[in-house]
Amino acid sequence: MLDNDKEEYGLVEFRPLSNKERWETYAKLTTPQRAVIDAHRKYLVRSEFVKNTYLKASDWYFVDLKIDARYPEKYETKYMLYCECGRRLKYQYIIASKKTGQEIKLGSQHFKDHLNIPQHVANEISAKINNVDYALDELLWLKRKNQTFPSELIERVRKQLFNLNHNQKNQAFNLTLVQRIFAFAEVDMPIYTADYQAIQQFLNLDLEVNSVDIQSKGYQYFQENITDYLTSQTLYQKTALWVKQIQERMSQTKEQPKMPKRYFEAFHYLLTKIEMQTIEKIKAEIDLFSLRGLGKWIQPEVYTQISQALYQLGYTEDFLNVIHPFIREGLLEFFYVNQKNDIVNEESERDASPILNEMVTLLAPLSKKEQATLLKELLLKLKQRD
Ligand SMILES: [Zn+2]
Repeated sequence: MLDNDKEEYGLVEFRPLSNKERWETYAKLTTPQRAVIDAHRKYLVRSEFVKNTYLKASDWYFVDLKIDARYPEKYETKYMLYCECGRRLKYQYIIASKKTGQEIKLGSQHFKDHLNIPQHVANEISAKINNVDYALDELLWLKRKNQTFPSELIERVRKQLFNLNHNQKNQAFNLTLVQRIFAFAEVDMPIYTADYQAIQQFLNLDLEVNSVDIQSKGYQYFQENITDYLTSQTLYQKTALWVKQIQERMSQTKEQPKMPKRYFEAFHYLLTKIEMQTIEKIKAEIDLFSLRGLGKWIQPEVYTQISQALYQLGYTEDFLNVIHPFIREGLLEFFYVNQKNDIVNEESERDASPILNEMVTLLAPLSKKEQATLLKELLLKLKQRD
């Protein structure tokens, strides 16, 4: 492993493998490593199918790819793979008809015969499938050279994801890449040189965030639930948070929908009053809120995330740090006014300057306009109490 010399991560003296070497290396992988490589191969094949314009317009789509790792060894017939025509296969492609859903199982050499597609398209598919093998050779080659996953990356990737969730700009990133990095880390597989470079770029993204307290409960919670964030863009992407109808409207008009303040005010009020004893109780209250009026505009997943975080963390800063950024920003205004009210009440008899200093610190990250709004709200609240 070349952990201490990052420059050297990658391919040394790479050449494509022979079929024999390919299978030899594949056979030496652990079962979880094979599962990751098989899933990745499937992903590559699927992208090749999608890229092929003829197939895209045709009735066929790619469903699955099965591999007989023991081929050509003979064993129980029900576990071996076959083409439509009965020929034994190492790779079996499963293709289905968009119209009827009917599936066809076949080898890469027989696409033309069984799918009734022109010879040149069949040739193109074969060539693409060879490319997939060639791409995977890079990983198998690294494995042959005893390379492992560059483990020093994963903590930094985790931290960066938390940062992205707190970025002022809504920065897009390559989710597929990050998912692949996590999958490969899990089974200690080496990664593509291109992925290694791309992940460095991801780590160097220019973000506007405050430093992360990795000891905080919020950070721990985020890391424990990171799979949710990686599998659902709804949970952190600003545009993905809206329900389908609003997203469709957004794609036509390009205007950004806004939630009126009263939505966040009502939500904040609920969060301060909600009984936290059981997750069921919390879910029931949040669900009720989500189905009323403006609540319906937001994807149900976001509310599920909120219920779970609320149960674990209570209505705290840590809670706000792990929920959807859009909801966080809306609630923050009311959350801090609420906290400030408590402080002012408790300490109203004492010297006000420490509180003033603390408020100045608290307001510092906000824009002048946000500060002004916040202070106005504060005055309003105080007046209401008098
Ligand atoms: Zn066949």
